[in-house]
Amino acid sequence: MPDWLTHIVIALVFAELLDVKKKSVVLVGALLPDLLPKLTLLELFIPIPNWNYQFLDAFHVPFVLVLVILLIAPLFRYKYSRIVAWLSLGTLTHLLSDTLLRHFLGGISWLYPFTTDKHTLNWIWPDQSYVVLIPALLVYFIIILMKKRWRKNASNHTG
Ligand SMILES: [Zn+2]
Repeated sequence: MPDWLTHIVIALVFAELLDVKKKSVVLVGALLPDLLPKLTLLELFIPIPNWNYQFLDAFHVPFVLVLVILLIAPLFRYKYSRIVAWLSLGTLTHLLSDTLLRHFLGGISWLYPFTTDKHTLNWIWPDQSYVVLIPALLVYFIIILMKKRWRKNASNHTG
């Protein structure tokens, strides 16, 4: 996976482009696919005999994430449909950017439950996420500047 900073910047780009009101919700969505699978690390500290934490990897599967989003959306005090849309947007940016990567173990199971095949474009090694991060940062700043200029122009015209 690209590192979390890259995931956050990519999600911010889309949140800005789509003018999302609560950008933080999109960011939660962008980290969601990696949050639960990371709990597999608990195995190092709390090993349970005959128990495998690997099942947590299921939380990196789009189909499972849709269910998770539908279940956790009520935790946010806001319009349910909006929260679902924003969390989904963040999660989608995460999974799409993970799809760019070369994986030693498969990729993203986009079509689960129809098939367990994993998909990847094999473009970028996980330790080269700067290849995505730097352009994403540039795009983000350009969007911010354009929006600022556009807002300034709009206020000049009205006032
Ligand atoms: Zn990931």
